Amino acid sequence: MNTDLIIHGQAIQGEAPVFSVINPANEAVLAKVAGASMAQVNQAIDSAAEAFKLWKNTTDDSVNELFLKIAADIRAAKDEIAKLITLEQGKTLPMAQFEVEAGAGWIEYLTSLEIPVETIADPSGKTIKVYNRPLGVVASVTPWNWPFMIAVWHIFPALKTKNCVVNKPSEYTPLSTIKLVEIINRHVPQGVCNIVLGKGNIGQALTEHPAVNKVAFTGSTRTGQSILSHSVTSLKSVVLELGGNDAGIVLEDADIDAAAEKIFGSAFLNAGQTCAALKRLYVHESIYDVLTAKLAAIADAQVVGDGMDAQVSFGPVQNKMQYEKVKALIADAAAQGGQIMTASKRLPESGYYIAPTIIANVQEGIAVVDEEQFGPVLPVLKFSTVDEVLQRSNATEFGLGGSVWSKNLERAEQIAGRMETGTVWINSHSDLSPAAAFGGWKMSGLGYSFGLDGLLLFTHKQAVHITP
Ligand code: NAD
Repeated sequence: MNTDLIIHGQAIQGEAPVFSVINPANEAVLAKVAGASMAQVNQAIDSAAEAFKLWKNTTDDSVNELFLKIAADIRAAKDEIAKLITLEQGKTLPMAQFEVEAGAGWIEYLTSLEIPVETIADPSGKTIKVYNRPLGVVASVTPWNWPFMIAVWHIFPALKTKNCVVNKPSEYTPLSTIKLVEIINRHVPQGVCNIVLGKGNIGQALTEHPAVNKVAFTGSTRTGQSILSHSVTSLKSVVLELGGNDAGIVLEDADIDAAAEKIFGSAFLNAGQTCAALKRLYVHESIYDVLTAKLAAIADAQVVGDGMDAQVSFGPVQNKMQYEKVKALIADAAAQGGQIMTASKRLPESGYYIAPTIIANVQEGIAVVDEEQFGPVLPVLKFSTVDEVLQRSNATEFGLGGSVWSKNLERAEQIAGRMETGTVWINSHSDLSPAAAFGGWKMSGLGYSFGLDGLLLFTHKQAVHITP
């Protein structure tokens, strides 16, 4: 299990104090990792800046060729990477394999995108060409919920647009990202993609550094705000993918059986630790009881345990802090009259296990509804009219995603247009596409990822005016 930093293509031991990576399934120490010193952070940035001088001139075809080789290597190492993800993150092995495959697919998709050059015929007779030029050094700071996939989402758009990268993964889940950067370094020149390890202070040092031209950050709103405030001195471009409190609105004509399965799949995806998971469910009063009971039955059928065990369908929460937060939210909701619809389960004694929990008869004003739970609990709220549910679901500082569930697609689309979120799904939730822009409104983010729009945020426009 590699725990080294990778700087200028070399695996290097960190010089700062050691921190432990804990397996959430049993609370055992999985790895001891020596963090990067500030000197090593600077070294990684210097290396990226040096590599940029050549990498920026790489042809699009060469980049695409390298991407396909990297994706093939990732697929070849799928089982090894998936095992690392399950051990450090907690999700089940099939879910971890999905994460690796989706990552490889995302990289392959990027090879189909072309960085455009816009040509404008100016009335004065001159031609103007607007290029999308690389920015330089991109700092990428990633969270612990989908550690491999989110690192792919940051690193490859940056490399595709000919920037160089320094990534810092979450201190809770660095191992699969180290493996990713190791594979990338088999194919790209030294310094093009580096990884430094450590806690928030290393993320801060990296994202504040004056030689960093862009920051890609996925994580909590609080950290995102801190990064943005520190970007001011050197006017860095910043893209922030932050927290959410996605509402799902189930209309009276929804296909209840299909919706129940899909809603459970989204709300409890990765034990609910997904930014765009469905986090508040609004159900029309005419179908409230039946849908709530179906969700509870699906939750009760889950086998909770160590994600490495093939019998298990539901893994632990990733870390102790999150475990305690989610337990407290459930207890608080129950104390305030929320009805726990799911049966209590016998859970393993060590490990951060919380059985998937459905809570009925809750209202706004209770923390599990108003805050982002980021864990395996779903509050289900009752509504009567569309105007009322839109007012209630939009009354949040978050604006990442939302969904409408109905057989009437035209009506659902009209409701979608009234939701204040960057993404709205109709009859699904959380299923992302590499081709469509994804980003939060309000406090859920700044800028967007994916698609050509997301890709071009890793570039700067340069307009060349050509007078004949
Ligand atoms: P976090 O903000 O605590 O940590 C994220 C990363 O930032 C880690 O690598 C951490 O070490 C680093 N960091 C901490 N303090 C820093 C600082 N001051 N400067 C720079 N870096 C710093 O978030 P988390 O708990 O790891 O992730 C969970 C949160 O992420 C949830 O709120 C979730 O909704 C959000 N999230 C959002 C998306 C999205 O795409 N919108 C995706 C996944 C997760």
